[in-house]
Amino acid sequence: MPTTRREFLAAVAAAPALVRLRTEHATVVRGGTVYDGSGNPGVLRDIAIANGRIVAIAPSISERGTEEIDARGMAVAPGFIDIHSHAESSLADDPRAESVIRQGITTIVGGQDGSSRGVDGPDSFSAYLSSVTALNPAVNVAAMIGLGSVRGRVVGQDDRKATSAEITRMTELVESALEAGACGASSGLEYTPGAFAPLEELIAVCRPLSARRLPYATHMRNEDDRLLESIDESISVARGARCPLQISHLKTQGPRNWSKLDAAFARIEAARRDGIDAAFDRYPYTAYSTGLTNLFPVWSRDGGTEAFLARLADPAVGPRIKAATLAKVELIGGWQNVHITSVRAAEDRAAEGKRVGAYAASIGIDPYEVAVGLLKRSGGNVGMVGFAMSEDNIDRILAHPHGMVCSDGGGFALEGPTRRGSPHPRGLGTFARVLGRYVRERKALTLAQAIHKMTALPASRIGLRDRGTLAIGRPADVVVFDPATVADKATYEEPFQYAVGYRAVIVNGMTAFKDGARRGEGAGAVLRPS
Ligand SMILES: [Zn+2]
Repeated sequence: MPTTRREFLAAVAAAPALVRLRTEHATVVRGGTVYDGSGNPGVLRDIAIANGRIVAIAPSISERGTEEIDARGMAVAPGFIDIHSHAESSLADDPRAESVIRQGITTIVGGQDGSSRGVDGPDSFSAYLSSVTALNPAVNVAAMIGLGSVRGRVVGQDDRKATSAEITRMTELVESALEAGACGASSGLEYTPGAFAPLEELIAVCRPLSARRLPYATHMRNEDDRLLESIDESISVARGARCPLQISHLKTQGPRNWSKLDAAFARIEAARRDGIDAAFDRYPYTAYSTGLTNLFPVWSRDGGTEAFLARLADPAVGPRIKAATLAKVELIGGWQNVHITSVRAAEDRAAEGKRVGAYAASIGIDPYEVAVGLLKRSGGNVGMVGFAMSEDNIDRILAHPHGMVCSDGGGFALEGPTRRGSPHPRGLGTFARVLGRYVRERKALTLAQAIHKMTALPASRIGLRDRGTLAIGRPADVVVFDPATVADKATYEEPFQYAVGYRAVIVNGMTAFKDGARRGEGAGAVLRPS
C-alpha cells in the first residue's frame, strides 16, 4: 500500500541533511517539487539515489552526486506505472521501449485483454518472465496471465463450454502462473476464444486470485449497448471468485450510450459497498483501438481466423454478418469514424492512416467490401481506431477516485522495427496527455491526483508494494517533468512523435532519459507481486 503522509514526512525528517554518497552511480535530483505518489500536494525536496534505491529525501542535500539532475521548477514523481499496456509485445523487437520511457513510464503491466504468453504448461509462465528478463528491457515489466490464451491452449478456438476437466486444467495454469509471478489474470471477452467463456468458467479460473488479492482485469464482453450488463457480469466474476476487479479501459462507446456513465459508476460503487474491491482504468482519448475483426459479431469469428474468413464469403451467413457489422458501424457513427491503423498485406499499405469511409470513396468501392477485402488479404490482421467516445466522460472517468490511467498502447520508436503502421497515438502520448490536457488545460483532476493514479494506486492493485511511491529505501523509479509544458505530440494522423516536457526518467536508479537523450539501456526488471 502507498506510504502514508505521516510515514513520508517521518522519512524526510529522518534523512540527514548532509548525505554521504558512496557509489559511482549516485544521482541527486535537486530542487524539484516532490509528489510522493500518495495524492498529497508536492513539497520542495532534493532526492539522492544510490545503488538503485532512494537513499535520501531532504529539503537540501549539500553533497553533490556523480550525476546531478536540475529539477527546479519541475515536478518529481514516482515513475509511472501503466496498468494496462501492450508494450511488452514489442520488447523483443526493440527493448529500448522509447515511447514508453519518453512519457515517464517506468513499469508496464502486460498480458492484457486475455492475451499472454506463458500458457503452455506448468513452468511456462516462469520461462516467459525469464525470457523478458533476458531482453534487458529499458522498462520494468509486470505481467498478467491471459485467460483467453489459457482457453485457447486448453479448449481451442471453438465456441463451446469447457468440460470440468478442462476447467480444472485452466485453473491449474492460472495458479502456476500466479506462483511464477503473474500479477493478475486478464480476460478479453470481445475477442476469440476468450469470448466463449461463460460466467461460471470465469469464476472458476479466477479463484486462484483470491488468496493473493490480485485482480481479475477484464476487457468486458461489451462496451456499448450492453455496457451495464457487462459491468454486472464483471462484478459477478469478482464476487464469485472473491477477488479484486479491474475493469480495463472503462468507456461508454457510441453517442447513444454516453449517458450511461452515472449508472456505470453506481454499479461499481455499489459493488464496493458490498465488499468487492472494484476499480478501473482508462486512456485519455475519445477513440479506441482494436482489430478490425472486432466490428464483426463474435459468433462469426467462432473457430478462428480461417473459419471467419470462410464465413464472410458464405452466402448462407454472409448477409447476417454484414447486417450485424453495419449495425456496429452505425453505433459508432459510420465508416468515417473507422480509421485503419495497420494492415499485413503490402498491397494495402495505402489504407493505413485513412478512414474507411474516405478510402472507400477514393477507390470507388463499397466500404463494407473494402473492410472485408482488407481482412482477407491480411489474414484477419488489420488494426483500426474507432472514434466513439465522449470527452466529458473521460474527464469524469479519470477524476473518479477509483479510476486510474492506462495507455492500452504498444511500444514504439521513431526509428527501427517498431515504427510501423499508423498506430493509435496512445502508445506515445497517454501519460503526457493526461498531465497536459486533462490536468493543466481541462482541470479535470489535480496534478497530485493524476500522479497518484499513475503510481501508488496502480502499484497497490497488483501487489507491487515497493513501487509507486517516493520513499527512502524504495527502488528508484523517478520521473522529472515540467507541469507547465508536459504534452503529448502524437496524433492519429502523425502518431510517431514523442511526448515533450520531460527532464529525466530514472529506472531502478539508472538514468534512462535526460534532457532529450536516451541512455542507461536495460535497467528494467521483471516485477512480481510481493
Ligand atoms: Zn482491451
